[in-house]
This record gives sequence, C-alpha cells and structure tokens, in this order.
Amino acid sequence: MATQKMLKFVSLGKEMPTKRDATMRSADFHEIYREFAAEKAAEQASRCSQCGVPYCQSHCPLHNNIPDWLRLTAEGRLQEAYEISQATNTFPEICGRICPQDRLCEGNCVIEQSGHGTVTIGAVEKHLTDLAWENGWVLPIKPGVERAESVGIIGAGPGGLAAADVLRRKGVQVTVYDRYDRAGGLLTYGIPGFKLEKPVVMQRIEQLEKAGVQFVMNCNVGVDISFDAIRGQHDAVLIATGVYKARDIEAPGTGLSGIVKALDYLTASNRKSFGDEVAEFDNGTLDAKGKRVVVIGGGDTAMDCVRTAIRQGAVSVKCLYRRDKANMPGSQREVQNAEEEGVDFVWLSAPRGFVGSDHVHGVIVQKMRLGAPDASGRQSPEVIEGADYTEPADLVIQALGFEPEDIPGQWDAPDLAVTRWGTIKADFRSHATNLPGVYAAGDIVRGASLVVWAIRDGREAADAILDYLAQAPAVAAE
Ligand SMILES: Cc1cc2nc3c(=O)[nH]c(=O)nc-3n(C[C@H](O)[C@H](O)[C@H](O)COP(=O)(O)OP(=O)(O)OC[C@H]3O[C@@H](n4cnc5c(N)ncnc54)[C@H](O)[C@@H]3O)c2cc1C
Ligand code: SF4
Repeated sequence: MATQKMLKFVSLGKEMPTKRDATMRSADFHEIYREFAAEKAAEQASRCSQCGVPYCQSHCPLHNNIPDWLRLTAEGRLQEAYEISQATNTFPEICGRICPQDRLCEGNCVIEQSGHGTVTIGAVEKHLTDLAWENGWVLPIKPGVERAESVGIIGAGPGGLAAADVLRRKGVQVTVYDRYDRAGGLLTYGIPGFKLEKPVVMQRIEQLEKAGVQFVMNCNVGVDISFDAIRGQHDAVLIATGVYKARDIEAPGTGLSGIVKALDYLTASNRKSFGDEVAEFDNGTLDAKGKRVVVIGGGDTAMDCVRTAIRQGAVSVKCLYRRDKANMPGSQREVQNAEEEGVDFVWLSAPRGFVGSDHVHGVIVQKMRLGAPDASGRQSPEVIEGADYTEPADLVIQALGFEPEDIPGQWDAPDLAVTRWGTIKADFRSHATNLPGVYAAGDIVRGASLVVWAIRDGREAADAILDYLAQAPAVAAE
C-alpha cells in the first residue's frame, strides 16, 4: 500500500509520501500528493524572496515571469497567477512536470544559492495549470478571424504543437503531419507515464483538434507523402521532426537477442499504458519483469529506462556509465530518484562486449578512470587494463543518445542545408532554413535537447512564419 511510505509533514501536520518508491504507482503518488498540492504551492510560493534579481526567470528558456506568479500564488490569486504563467508557456503543466528544474529555474533560485533549498517552481507551475484545467480557466482556442493561408507542420512533438497553437490562435489554417499514430512526439512515446501522465498530453492535443488543427497521422513524410507535395499544399512549412537515430554500441556480441534500444523499450511501455497490443512486450522481449537488467548510458533516457525497469518488476537494475556521478549528463535529481528506487549505478564502467550463445547472458564490463581533459574541458575516460569482469544480464538496454536522421536524403530534398552533425541549419532567431518559406524547430535543429527549448523554438518559429505570411501573403512555397 502506498500509504505505508509516509512521514509526518510537519508544517501541515499531515502525512506526506516520503518518496516515489517502486511499489507506489505514479497514480497513487499523484492522488496522495494532490490533497496537499494547494497548501504546498502556497507555502512554496511564499518562500520566494522577490529578490529583484530573478535568475530563475533568466534561466528559464521561456523567460517565464516566475516571481510575479509566485507572488500571486502566495496571495491566493490563483487564476491571475495561472494567466501570467501561461502567457509565455504553451504547456506549463507539462514543463512543471518534466523540466530538469535543477539545471534551469530552480537551480538558479537565489534561496537555493544561499543554501536554503529552492522554491519548487516547477511544482507550483504544474499545480496552477492543473487547477486551471479543473476550473475551466483554460479557454478553448478561438481565432478572431479565419485566414486563408495555411501552414504544414511536420512533426507533432512539443515543437510542432507549440507552433500550431500560436498559428491557430491567429486564424491560420494548420495541418500537422506525423508518422506515429498518436500526436505528442516524445511526450507521448518517449517520456514515461510516471513522469508525465499521458492524459495530460492528450488533453492538449484535443484542445488543438477542437480549435481546428488538422492532424494527419500515420503519415511518414518522405514515404507516404513527399516533402515537395507538402510544400506545394501550404504557404509555409515547419519541420519539427526531432532526432531518432539511436547511437549504437560497437562491441562483440551486440547482435544477441535481449539487447534492445532505449526508445523501442520505452515506446513499448508507453503503448501498453494506452492499452495497445504490443507483440514484443507481450512475448517478453521488451518487458523487464523478472529479469536482471543492465542499462548502458548516463543521460535522462537511461534514467527513464532504469526507472521503468524497476516498475516493471525487474529482479535487479544496474546502470553502467563510463564517467563518474559528478560528470553524468543526466539530471542529478533523476539519478537521486533512481537510486532511491533501488537502481544500482556502476560508475566508471563501459561495455567491452556481450556474452551468450543466442540470447545475452552478460555484459563484459571494462573499468575506467578519468584522465586528462579533452578539448571540451571534460576529463576523458581511460580503460584500466586487466580489470574486466562479467555482469550477468537477461536484458540489456542501450541508451547512448540520439542523432538526426538523413532528412535531405530521405525526403529527396538535397538543397535543404544541414550542419556537419546532420541537424537542419536554421537561423537561431527566426528559425528560417535556407529554403524559402521553410522553417525548422526543436531537436532537429538543436540535437537532442529539452521539451522547454522545443516549445520556445516552436513559438518563435510561428511568430516568424506569421511575419513571412504578412510580408508575402500571395507567395506560396515553391
Ligand atoms: C526517453 C526520453 C526522455 C526525455 N525526457 C525529457 C524530460 O524529462 N524533460 C525534457 O525536457 N526533455 C526530455 N526529453 C527530450 C524531449 O523529449 C525532446 O527534447 C523534445 O520532445 C523535442 O521535441 P521536438 O518537437 O523537437 O521532437 P519530438 O518530440 O521528437 O517530436 C518529433 C515528431 O516528429 C515525428 N516525425 C519524425 N520524422 C517524421 C517524418 N519523416 N514524417 C512525419 N513525422 C515525423 C515523430 O514521429 C515525432 O512525433 C526526453 C527525451 C527522451 C528520448
Ligand atoms: S518552463 Fe521549465 S524552466 Fe521555465 S519555469 Fe517552468 S519548470 Fe522552470
């Protein structure tokens, strides 16, 4: 029972859950936390010192007016606080849940810097918007005028959806194309439900559908429809396709069954939460239940994999990372969550190969030490020879990050300029590519990044598209 994990929450004189442990379903946690959310939000908001140097605001990619909505929350003026918080953020309830606040707003809170613990800005933002949905403060999108111009958006992730929201509010006709069956991009199929409950994402997509945004799903651009055809149908196009090519491990034994890619594993788990039939989950291939799981990687995707495996009932979950804890790319808060839930981190370790006849039985682990700094200033991991050992494993999940696919090649668009990393080249303010009327936003421009940056890019690109349409309304894309 979830309530077994309780402690006295002194200031409220009530019982709060101590932590999100593996036996506690996220739904249980949110249900329990909910009772306290209003009091906790007010208490946290009143801790803001209104310091006059809002580093929190400048370190939020959306420059949310955090001090003002914290002040209004502390005063109990919750609807006004919500109005301010949503003025700069298309999906505040999503950012409140999944922004790595320790690296953004909260990490730069003056109270945190002075050693007294940050104001929990993200939790207040989430609370305000959840409350807004419940109380009908989130109004339907109703454009004042309908305009003739249309914009095609390729990719229904946060970047594409944020742009769709801005454009539709201005009366532009918007069609979103996506190769998945559900919209949301990584919000829907990447990020696990215990961090971001799926109904929270779906209610935003429904809001856009009701506003007249057309969604063309199961439509893989470059396969089901050409990029040229999309350009021909719309006055402007936004590319917001994210990055999906998984980095592979090059080591003997990688072809063994039981070695899977992180996104396949997480997508299967998310699909099950929607009630879908997923053959590779149902036959056990992508299910960690009863298995010794080894996850390779140290980023946020690796953290999502280890925490999902714990929830699926893995016998043990180990995370191999080639540097040490201080040098992990992922959020320290996520590492702490994973450790509390029982994940065993094996620092300074990398796979040399995999053992097994047909199915994987173990990972040959080579031990590392940190050597001289490389060009970026980070200490490079070096192999300690003779220290290898075999870590038993029934399921190995590779979570080494993502790269862009070859968009110009796949879309027969050789003129679309890309960087040497394969990301699309776009102006950093207007997000315009080198092709007239074609814009790009989110991970496909930045490389694997964050939801909040994709939202910012999508909003900015939509503003630039509106300017473009205003300047040359009669000029359709070539
Ligand atoms: C496992 C995981 C966990 C993460 N956790 C967090 C987190 O906790 N917090 C955070 O801030 N960020 C997190 N991120 C990063 C975040 O999800 C991304 O930065 C963000 O989703 C990027 O948004 P986007 O709109 O650019 O692309 P995406 O969300 O990737 O959406 C792109 C969409 O384009 C579609 N698409 C691609 N190619 C085509 C095509 N040819 N035709 C049609 N459609 C196409 C895809 O199907 C997809 O729906 C996580 C990422 C992963 C992988
Ligand atoms: S959007 Fe993210 S960074 Fe900005 S205030 Fe909200 S939680 Fe913090």
